[in-house]
Amino acid sequence: MDFFNSQIHLWYSLFKRDLPWRNTRNPYYIWLSEIILQQTRIRQGLAYYYRFVEEFPEIEDLATASEDQVLKLWQGLGYYSRARNLHFTAKHVLETYNGEFPEEYFSIRKLKGIGDYTAAAIASISFGLSYPALDGNVYRVLSRYFGISVPCDSNEGRKVFQELAENLIKGTEPGMHNQALMEFGALQCTPANPKCEDCPVNMRCFAYSHQKINEFPTKKKKTKQRDRYFNYLILTGESFTWLRKRVEDGIWKNLFEFPLIETNEKTEIGSILRKTEFQENFMPSFSEIENVSNWKIHILSHQRIHYRFIRIRLTRIIPQPAEFIRVYKEDIFNFALPKLLDAYLSENLESVFSIA
Ligand code: SF4
Repeated sequence: MDFFNSQIHLWYSLFKRDLPWRNTRNPYYIWLSEIILQQTRIRQGLAYYYRFVEEFPEIEDLATASEDQVLKLWQGLGYYSRARNLHFTAKHVLETYNGEFPEEYFSIRKLKGIGDYTAAAIASISFGLSYPALDGNVYRVLSRYFGISVPCDSNEGRKVFQELAENLIKGTEPGMHNQALMEFGALQCTPANPKCEDCPVNMRCFAYSHQKINEFPTKKKKTKQRDRYFNYLILTGESFTWLRKRVEDGIWKNLFEFPLIETNEKTEIGSILRKTEFQENFMPSFSEIENVSNWKIHILSHQRIHYRFIRIRLTRIIPQPAEFIRVYKEDIFNFALPKLLDAYLSENLESVFSIA
């Protein structure tokens, strides 16, 4: 273990990337960076980190912002529950801890949106507490080097890795140690094509010496992805269209979207327009189909969203349907939208609003 630790720490001191959250111990910034970087690549995450720090330099600024403001700033990053939890927790820290981030592991762990990994990262980096942060990078490095074949996403696996990681972090500078392991996994011991030839620990690495690199880490069977079919209706009247806030639990909660009809499969247009929700809300006798896009797919972690846009011209002004708000061209990008709607509007803004 001493050999492993000393080599990884040395490697980190030589090769770590210069990232803004590495130059601070401010728990608010560490927390922000950790939440942004979950499921996000560093390059993309960096831009969002800078945006958030600029817009909300203190946790109080985030806490007193509106949720719409926070979601708008988050737009494009996906997994919007992260942004909602970030906002909720900022308010909670302001109210309960007077704006001071709690300094004790279990208090940090109790905050909404903060799991074992994030709590350990904040506790170790900001407060020097000895808690190992186990992310996908760390599981991979440890499983390969120590030859641990129990699935890292099983209860037994989590125990085995946790125990090992707790032994490894003892007597180290915890924040540096955690970051070193994660960075080593991200840059050297990568999922595909790890740089084993020039790896400082290769002579003692189990996977390398047994030529089993691709067999670690092991995982339980994957959960099946669910297919969903979204038919977005873009209704254009004079110079506006309609959006609604998605309030249901699940994906994209509290983001704005066009009227949406979800079906169980790819359905022909006629049967979409015969659906009660369309008939009741949009008075079909006053509407004409203007354009129908091809189906596309948006992949999420557990769902495949098949989607298309049906542009409908309203030939008469109809009463505003409940739940919807009227949105004009110059305002539409002020709303937090799912990425696929934002992309569609960026490409088709003129044609969407050309109907007067
Ligand atoms: S030798 Fe290869 S597999 Fe082993 S720790 Fe180094 S990079 Fe990872």
